Amino acid sequence: MLVPEVQCYSRAAMRCQMCHSVDTKVIDSRSAEEGRAIRRRRECLACNHRFTTFERASYQPLVRKRDGRLEPFSADKVRHGIEQALADRPVAAGTVEALVLEAESLFSPGTTVVSAGQIGDAVLAGLRAVDEVAYLRFVSVYREFSGAIDFEREMAALEERQ
Ligand SMILES: [Zn+2]
Repeated sequence: MLVPEVQCYSRAAMRCQMCHSVDTKVIDSRSAEEGRAIRRRRECLACNHRFTTFERASYQPLVRKRDGRLEPFSADKVRHGIEQALADRPVAAGTVEALVLEAESLFSPGTTVVSAGQIGDAVLAGLRAVDEVAYLRFVSVYREFSGAIDFEREMAALEERQ
């Protein structure tokens, strides 16, 4: 069923701060805060008062990469890495999702920025407990996540145990 456009408009209207009219229009719109917000300049059609609004995601988990840049956290990206590491490995169903959840749990409304290294370490710790081969695969593919891990030493240690 079609909802009359005017109804949508009035429901989502941004009232003028001066005269409380709902007839305002956006006169300028640009991204702000490194693309994490949209700044809109509005003008009231009734009294011409101009004001600014910001639109932000209420909660956006971000990953700080090693070069310092921020990017949105992608559970799919983490899942893909874990799936690659666990390919053909005999692990219980649900292992991948459990590890993705572990990485996601680093975030909370109070902690919206987590370093790629922290995510890598969380996945590595989880993989190590589940499957050593997958753990080493992940280390070799995602070495940049954690510079602290000495891949050669880990490999040698695994070979010693076999
Ligand atoms: Zn107004």
